[in-house]
Amino acid sequence: MKADIVTIFPDFFRGPLEYGITRRAQEMGLAEIRVHDLREFTHDRHRTVDDRPFGGGEGMVLKPEPLFECLESLSLAPREDRVTGRAKESVVLLSAQGQRFAQKAAGELALLDRIVLVCGRYEGVDERVADFLADRELSIGDYVLSGGEMAAAVIVEAVMRLLPGAVGNERSTQQESFTVDSKEKDSDSADSTCGSNGLLDYPHYTRPAEFRGMAVPEALMSGNHEEIRKWRRQRALEKTWRNRPDLLEGAALSKEDNKLLAGIKNSRG
Ligand code: SAH
Repeated sequence: MKADIVTIFPDFFRGPLEYGITRRAQEMGLAEIRVHDLREFTHDRHRTVDDRPFGGGEGMVLKPEPLFECLESLSLAPREDRVTGRAKESVVLLSAQGQRFAQKAAGELALLDRIVLVCGRYEGVDERVADFLADRELSIGDYVLSGGEMAAAVIVEAVMRLLPGAVGNERSTQQESFTVDSKEKDSDSADSTCGSNGLLDYPHYTRPAEFRGMAVPEALMSGNHEEIRKWRRQRALEKTWRNRPDLLEGAALSKEDNKLLAGIKNSRG
């Protein structure tokens, strides 16, 4: 996959993209990330990328011309083909007004050949970029950042780790929080694993079995796979119900899950 990041702060990305799985994905040739300095697409002495807002008001707005020129230099498929999915490319405008980025969108972006991430700054970006240049607007959460750079780094990391081969053990990205594993068997069956099926992940423990008087839950030490699976599912359900009840609505719950959940709700009132 190719990822292009358009920013007025290219040096920002020296850190975040050079560690862990994102770094490995690049070294393995699974991903190629290029960072483009928006100021290189200006034509004035001051390399101006922003201007005052029409209609008045606070702050400055990123001008359309450098952004259009920068993206035109990338030889992307026409917007129409990107929108309809004919081209496996997407131009994403990072924006607090965008659709909320979540694991599902990460999975969709990971299937593309190329993603372009446009980082806004100041009060935002001339709306013609959202309307005619980008094919989607994404927000990483309901808060306002000063620029799209952090958001772009978040999206790149979430997407890169889903590229086949990027994470050593592929099952691990299919079993984590928020993920609906298409390969997961019916979770009522005895040999099913512990995929989250849209819930939060179950708790993890490692050695030592006892640390400062805090013991690892007995079920995990039992060696009984069925007992371990059930314990994990129970804890994933508990944690989801406590911290993110909204996820339960969209989760694929089995008969066993519903029974466990009823028990959880009863015991906690
Ligand atoms: N005036 C805007 C905020 C602009 S913040 C508003 O009230 O909605 C400047 C830039 O930071 C934005 O153009 C966008 O690129 C980025 N940004 C801010 N919050 C973001 C978020 N939650 N997700 C993604 N990008 C964000």
